[in-house]
Amino acid sequence: MRIDLHTHSTASDGTDTPAELVRNAAAAGLDVVALTDHDTTRGHAEAVAALPEGLTLVTGAELSCRVDAVSMHMLAYLFDPEEPALLAERELVRDDRVPRARGMIARLNELGVPVTWEQVARIAGDGSVGRPHVATALVELGVVPTVSDAFTGQWLADGGRAYVGKHETDPFDVIRLVKDAGGVCVFAHPGASKRGSTVPEETILRMAAAGLDGIEVDHMDHDGPTRERLRALAKETGLLTTGSSDYHGSRKTVALGEYTTDPDIYAEITRRATGAFPVPGAGGTRV
Ligand code: AMP
Ligand code: ZN
Ligand code: FE
Ligand code: FE
Repeated sequence: MRIDLHTHSTASDGTDTPAELVRNAAAAGLDVVALTDHDTTRGHAEAVAALPEGLTLVTGAELSCRVDAVSMHMLAYLFDPEEPALLAERELVRDDRVPRARGMIARLNELGVPVTWEQVARIAGDGSVGRPHVATALVELGVVPTVSDAFTGQWLADGGRAYVGKHETDPFDVIRLVKDAGGVCVFAHPGASKRGSTVPEETILRMAAAGLDGIEVDHMDHDGPTRERLRALAKETGLLTTGSSDYHGSRKTVALGEYTTDPDIYAEITRRATGAFPVPGAGGTRV
């Protein structure tokens, strides 16, 4: 069984629509795919409606958090999307992305880049707006050759010249909110040091004590030694370990299913969840 527990669609900063994403997941030979857009569940309905036979959808989101002055991402799976407290927090973070994108555009204008809100809004469509949309605008304007090249100190990387922060939730609050909504929490790419500072191990230990379920280990932003260190940490603390592509369509080079999660771990995640159930594709069986 091939299981990919972290992907993005046009509901945030991926380039596949939710319908295209589930079709591409089936074509890539996946049995299970999780849709985890940044701070939103907006893509779920379209993904469910388009779900091919034999593919199971895990509903989720990747929630923007901050702790110890470090930005981090929490994957939340199978929570009740209507639960009011978590819903309110998602909306708060998602809505704050708009003035924040406008702030980054103002910084870029000061730096002589003629990017406009209209351009970024067109690229983002109805997706939750983020730096990859601004980065795509920079590619369109010929400022950088690729989206990745915009994530440097010169432009949009954390602390970069045109970087503006957004509202980010304390992960200890997120763990509580997701649990209260019946969901399961996995710390996304905790060792992605290329993106900036990472959360100290001691804080991950405290998160584990506070109910964190797992950490993402097999991810393109983790090198071999980082994966080994994270696997050892998980063993020590009883955290689950996942693997996933963090697919963003054409905004990243990684393919669907390039990294996957062990079926036993997936089974444990679904066993713990009470807020929602995995959705089997029409005619398929629940796995
Ligand atoms: P935001 O949530 O708006 O701060 O944007 C963060 C997102 O930018 C991450 O979730 C990634 O999808 C993307 N990102 C971060 N670093 C890079 C990079 N080096 N290349 C491409 N995308 C990146
Ligand atoms: Zn993203
Ligand atoms: Fe992430
Ligand atoms: Fe992601």
